[in-house]
Amino acid sequence: MNDWSLDPRVRAVLKHIPLPIQLPTPLKRLQGATGTSELEGRRAVVTRLRDALDLALCQGLALAGAAVVIADAEPNADYVATAVAAGMRHVPSSVDAATGVLAVVQSSGATGDRRPVVIVHRVVAPTDADPAVNDATDRLFGVGHAAAQMGASGRLLLVLGQDLETTAAGALTAAAAAGFARSAFKEFGPKGTTVHVLRQAEAAPTTVASVAVFLAGPRSAFLSGLDLQIGKARGNDVGGLPRLGAKVALVTGAARGIGAAIAERLAKDGAHVWVNDVESAKEAGAETVARIRAAGGKADFVAADVSSAAGAQAIKAAIGPAVDVVIHNAGITRDRTLRKMTLENWRLVLRVNFGAMANVQAALLPVLREGGSLVLMSSVMGIAGNFGQANYSASKAGVIALSKQWSAQLAARGVRSNVIAPGFILTEMTAHLPLMNREMAKQLTALLQPGLPEDVAELACFLAGPDAAGLSGQVLRCDGGMAFGA
Ligand code: NAP
Repeated sequence: MNDWSLDPRVRAVLKHIPLPIQLPTPLKRLQGATGTSELEGRRAVVTRLRDALDLALCQGLALAGAAVVIADAEPNADYVATAVAAGMRHVPSSVDAATGVLAVVQSSGATGDRRPVVIVHRVVAPTDADPAVNDATDRLFGVGHAAAQMGASGRLLLVLGQDLETTAAGALTAAAAAGFARSAFKEFGPKGTTVHVLRQAEAAPTTVASVAVFLAGPRSAFLSGLDLQIGKARGNDVGGLPRLGAKVALVTGAARGIGAAIAERLAKDGAHVWVNDVESAKEAGAETVARIRAAGGKADFVAADVSSAAGAQAIKAAIGPAVDVVIHNAGITRDRTLRKMTLENWRLVLRVNFGAMANVQAALLPVLREGGSLVLMSSVMGIAGNFGQANYSASKAGVIALSKQWSAQLAARGVRSNVIAPGFILTEMTAHLPLMNREMAKQLTALLQPGLPEDVAELACFLAGPDAAGLSGQVLRCDGGMAFGA
């Protein structure tokens, strides 16, 4: 399944026709399994190097392969020495000036350098007394001005340290930064450039840095406008490759669509994956397993209807003594306006999309290993609602609340629980939508395009692994930066 506006032949023709259609930028996605140098071929401009968080961000980006340039006129000299010894460059520059960051971005590559640029900006409290117009808000303008002029597939990451919101002035700056980001991601999307806010909430600097690396690179190409709280790392996994080696994972509803893509992706990162789906999808499930095995991965199929407690118990019996990663993905739609909806379809959608997660959780809790990760599939419709989807939206909103409860309940066991809220993803579920609805859904995204099951799979794999150790109780939209429901 593909989108016509990304087909090179269609694009070649449209280029010569003066139509008022803005064509999307093809996204630079990750090819192959997660490696150590996923930021190779990217330039990263970091606007500050004064504390341990700044240093960890620089080091994380450099270790992942980015060519890092530090643009700070008054950095910590010891940190600069460490960074330069590790191959980073320091270009002293006043990032307070509107053109300061832009000048560094331009000087970080030769003329015509088309490597994507990542700007990482630490948002700090203002030193001026004016709560509105001050050095901190001027710097926001400066980074935005620079980001607006970089080439395709860039990234702008705004990083908020944990002390920022402890002062009144800092809290105002944090709010301004989040509002700025919500506009900027809409503005930069057509170029394939994305914007995110990362808030350090008791997380160690390296824990924040591993989230920043994910959002700076090709694994997150379809994500934009995320605003994440990064807490203390949970789990005892110190990382390394393969990231999910020796882990056992279950993906429900994985015979096809997003679930199949997630199963394949987890297996590529080393997990032994249990592919679940209903009995009638057994053949498609066997094909998913065969693809994983052909690629050298480990997988098995377990037929079970997760909307029943018996189905969940059958999964537990098949999996055996331990599971580390559970991706609650199975889901259905039965769209009707409330006037025409039957009680049967109201209940069915709630039972499959929401109740099934509780069934599987109840069955697997005794064998869920310490340091495990749960990922629950919601939808942007669970956040924003949608005409004719009251049952679906109710179920997907319930999923968000469920994950928050599990995150709190399982913190002591080092288990994390997060939600993915996909937007418009090309699968069989969306294939039957009328053409006009599909085109409208695309136009509502900042990136002007639908996502692929692989985009959701990258995110699920990230959340399952050690790089997301600081994320729990979070809702991550995978929607190309949708215009509504932020
Ligand atoms: P899909 O192509 O319809 O695949 C869903 C799979 O779940 C199917 O193989 C389905 O089997 C299986 N399933 C349904 N009920 C089940 C049950 N009781 N027990 C076990 N398996 C069951 O859907 P998708 O597009 O990949 O969506 C995957 C998830 O993402 C869903 O939760 C969906 O709500 C969510 N989502 C998707 C989009 C999107 O744009 N595609 C957007 C937002 C959220 P059968 O169909 O063969 O019964």
